[in-house]
Amino acid sequence: MIDQQQIASLNAAFENESPQTMLRWAGETFGRRLTLGTGLGPSGVVLMHVLSESVPGADVFFLDTGLHFEETYELRRALEARLGLCVRSLRPAQTVQGQAMRHGPALWQRDPDLCCTLRKVEPLRRHLTGFELWMTGLRRDQSTTRATAPILSYVARYGILKLNPLANWTEAMVWTYIRAHDLPYNALHDRGYPSIGCAPCTRAVQSGADLRAGRWAGLAKTECGLHLAA
Ligand code: SF4
Repeated sequence: MIDQQQIASLNAAFENESPQTMLRWAGETFGRRLTLGTGLGPSGVVLMHVLSESVPGADVFFLDTGLHFEETYELRRALEARLGLCVRSLRPAQTVQGQAMRHGPALWQRDPDLCCTLRKVEPLRRHLTGFELWMTGLRRDQSTTRATAPILSYVARYGILKLNPLANWTEAMVWTYIRAHDLPYNALHDRGYPSIGCAPCTRAVQSGADLRAGRWAGLAKTECGLHLAA
């Protein structure tokens, strides 16, 4: 088990290290006990590429709420073919129809926090019990709520270490990497969607708007709850 002193020491070192170095450390330290979660955004595309080269065969998962855009599912198929990896689907206990029968239709309009808990947080919690390190594409420049995110931390509510290898990358760095390696990306990014989640809760935004302005637009909600207290 890595203690808080070791986490602080690793964080200081990781601020100046590449994602490749961090993922190699993760693979050597945790082996099959690491997992990468991705919503298939640009940062996730970069990490999947680095992971496929640095830790071949590592676990990769996607929270499949059943409410994603078709373009997102197309990207997933393209990435699996290009990178030679399998993206595991984590599905909620209830289908969209089952949730509507239990909680009423379009729960995301009436209680998006409950909808995210049922369709994202609970499947994530179940999955993480089998691992010791959870890697994500979270970056500090994505929103004010993420501005102080550490690279490595212990997330008590899931009982797991969390690694954000791109925490100090910028949006521009991510897109430079994607273009340099000719990686596939979500076609909606070229249609005004900088951040893409479930279709009912994602809108296109004006050029220059906050990266996550199109997520839960018109609501106070800014996070699905996966990364709170991270
Ligand atoms: Fe439900 Fe919207 Fe959260 Fe998706 S993003 S789980 S549709 S509230």
